[in-house]
Amino acid sequence: MKETAQSLREKGLKVTPQRIAVYNMLMSTHEHPNAEMIYKALEPSNPTMSLATVYKTLDSFKQLGLVQELNVGESSSRYDAVVRCHPHTVCKVCGKVEDLQKTELTEVTKKLVPDLDFDIDCEQLILYGTCGACRKK
Ligand code: ZN
Ligand code: MN
Repeated sequence: MKETAQSLREKGLKVTPQRIAVYNMLMSTHEHPNAEMIYKALEPSNPTMSLATVYKTLDSFKQLGLVQELNVGESSSRYDAVVRCHPHTVCKVCGKVEDLQKTELTEVTKKLVPDLDFDIDCEQLILYGTCGACRKK
């Protein structure tokens, strides 16, 4: 895995401990956190970091293609360090956002291309429902 500082520098960003903390957090989670969740997770180790800094950092990461922003229909965006487009599931009970490892879905989209006067670069497919843990409750 590439060094975080190097990834930031390659994108022309000044390397700061706070930027490194936010990027590392996103790289190490599959939870698709929003800004608030990132802020809460980093607060103990970065007590001087404000929520506003987290928002600003995420915004510059997004502009530079270091993270992707996901709008899953909540009031705040979720963030994913996996920047290639991929489908997600969203649990309507607990709010969990997970990656959906089904390449068949991409195949279906590709099959539509000949019928469309449209080039597809990215599919933002979100399946809403109830996750296994919530169904057991
Ligand atoms: Zn759930
Ligand atoms: Mn994802």
